[in-house]
Amino acid sequence: MAENLPAECIEASAATGWVRVALDIPLADLFDYRSTEPVTVGDRVIVAFGRRKMIGVVVSLPEMPGYDPSKVKDVQVVLKDIAPLSLSWLRFATFAAEYYQRPLGEVILPALPMPLRSVPSYQGKRSGAGPVERLAKRRALKQEAAAISVVPQLNSHQEQAVAAVVDAQGFKTFLLYGVTGSGKTEVYLHAAAQTLARGKRVLLLVPEINLTPQFEQSLRARLEPIAGVNGVAVMHSALSDGERLRAWLRVQSGEARIVLGTRLAIFAPLDDLGLIVVDEEHDPSYKQQDGLRYSARDLAVWRAHDLGIPVVLGSATPSLESWANAEKSIYQRLDLPARARAVTLPSVRLVDTRRLQMDHGLSPHLVEAMRARLANNEQVLIFLNRRGYAPALHCHSCGWVSQCTRCTTFTVLHRLTPKRAQLHCHHCGLAQNVPKACPDCGDQDLQPMGRGTQRVEEHLAELFPGARVVRIDADSTRKKGSAQALFASVHAGEVDILVGTQMVAKGHDFANLGLVGVLNADAMLFSQDFRAPERLFAQLMQVAGRAGRHTGHGEVIVQTGYPEQAVYQALLKHDYSGFARHSLQERQAAALPPFSYQALLSAEARELPVALDFLRDARELACELSAHYQTEAVLTLYDPVPLRIVRVDNMCRAQLLLESTNRPALQSLLRHWLKLLPEQPDARRVRWQLEVDPLEI
Ligand code: ADP
Ligand code: ZN
Ligand code: ZN
Repeated sequence: MAENLPAECIEASAATGWVRVALDIPLADLFDYRSTEPVTVGDRVIVAFGRRKMIGVVVSLPEMPGYDPSKVKDVQVVLKDIAPLSLSWLRFATFAAEYYQRPLGEVILPALPMPLRSVPSYQGKRSGAGPVERLAKRRALKQEAAAISVVPQLNSHQEQAVAAVVDAQGFKTFLLYGVTGSGKTEVYLHAAAQTLARGKRVLLLVPEINLTPQFEQSLRARLEPIAGVNGVAVMHSALSDGERLRAWLRVQSGEARIVLGTRLAIFAPLDDLGLIVVDEEHDPSYKQQDGLRYSARDLAVWRAHDLGIPVVLGSATPSLESWANAEKSIYQRLDLPARARAVTLPSVRLVDTRRLQMDHGLSPHLVEAMRARLANNEQVLIFLNRRGYAPALHCHSCGWVSQCTRCTTFTVLHRLTPKRAQLHCHHCGLAQNVPKACPDCGDQDLQPMGRGTQRVEEHLAELFPGARVVRIDADSTRKKGSAQALFASVHAGEVDILVGTQMVAKGHDFANLGLVGVLNADAMLFSQDFRAPERLFAQLMQVAGRAGRHTGHGEVIVQTGYPEQAVYQALLKHDYSGFARHSLQERQAAALPPFSYQALLSAEARELPVALDFLRDARELACELSAHYQTEAVLTLYDPVPLRIVRVDNMCRAQLLLESTNRPALQSLLRHWLKLLPEQPDARRVRWQLEVDPLEI
């Protein structure tokens, strides 16, 4: 598709004349201007749009404007403070725009650091020279050289994997399938080192911001000798505008030879790439959930294909999409079948909670095992994917339950201090004071219902008075740097019991952690989303993988009311491939992804019927288009349905699912459909949005 980039694009010589500019405008396309200064494809320009001034990116130099030349305005400024964006990068952005059915400007501009795309940073009161020069005047970033670390001798599986990757001729997708602790990181580091030694650059994606410090340390320690002291750039969404600009410029200028980052780093302005790595490729956080709803993993594969280079997708529990591709030999699988250090995987025990007397949500088995590990000076991780003190507040007299006024959900009880609590809505952010008495019946005895991480933390501190208990979740890590500090204290052995959400499940290599306890995993078991079991299994395998990584006698206790479920039975045996086989058979029987392709049109409005009407009309339109283009045979249109949590922030939400076994047919239908959707009768009364390859349904 990106091969279709306008032919003018190929010719990058500077010229004066007509320019086609991508602007960050919703539902719009490209806009033509005239430049009296020399301008190149990839340059940024300041132009007038309506009454506003905006920064846009020149994407082509057409021979004639697309509309009446006398109405075409002049470019106001051609910004020359950075080199033009490269053609290969623009080709990549064009592909992303076409594939995800969004205007090109909505892809290109948000991918740039804020100061490079905001007019005030060039023409504001104090802007003077512009952000790039201002940054250059500030003290240069002084990095201390990282401590050199010991390089372990690779085992034979790791060696084979590294060799396969660095010997790949051109584009190839590798699925590095290795159990937790099998040393995948070591494979990335070796392959990266060899790629750098050949003069090429490396992009490494990780799913979580919290994993970047750990990775950054090892990357710098190992690769700076090849890449230089400022050779590693880190990109993630928690950077300030200034930090992001600095990192981006180091990448664009070629100084940074390795880019480490979360999903947004897939848009790093990197040329001469030689390798892309996507760690924990199954992780849902590679999917952007608003704006351009891209999958960084999928884009990584396209980019590698476009550049003719290898891409490594690593996971202990690959996505079923990637697994199916490996089964079909579209991807090449590389296996790391055993743990690198302590060869045994943790033993898994399912504790059937139906027949047990539980103490504050803890089974006697779990408490007993905790005692034993603590007595042995080992650390314990209690995993509960539910933050706050309790999921709701409840009146025993009349049955009232705390609810959000703006959403159809319960509000979660949070302890702010030992004395002060609030009710928070996790969907719209509403914070309310805790009522002194039941709003319905006046009873003053309101009780927390269920338990979240705060309550578990509180109880564990009472149960194990000598133990140092720490909680790591989104609430305890709001301050910048606090997550890093908490993780460091766990690594330093200053913590005995760690209570946490999925934040603690991923990636961390805790040396002294012996036991993992999983509470309330069942919550995800009966979700309507067909991917829920896959996601639960991956999450459980990952959190289980934190146990006994260095000692080899780790233990995992999962409390469940449904031990017979396939997910738990597979977990018991660490049997990913059995689980994948079983799940893929189910998906095939139901013609679900990866055996079909999906797109999701969602709509929200103040009134649910308005959203549903819009979707019904949209469905009708899709039917007509499908008849016209004769794609009925391969297209399934479901009925519009309200979302499970139908109202969020006073907007009612509904969705319409499209499915096809033929991706090009679906893509072309979507393109025609999107042109007509804005003209639907209700289109202005709803907020709607199309998502290609939706992850949550
Ligand atoms: P994964 O990413 O597959 O879960 P890691 O890369 O974190 O696993 O490796 C787990 C542990 O094993 C780390 O402490 C790492 O330093 C160590 N390790 C990796 N490869 C080797 C090796 N070949 N020999 C010894 N230790 C290794
Ligand atoms: Zn009441
Ligand atoms: Zn709410």
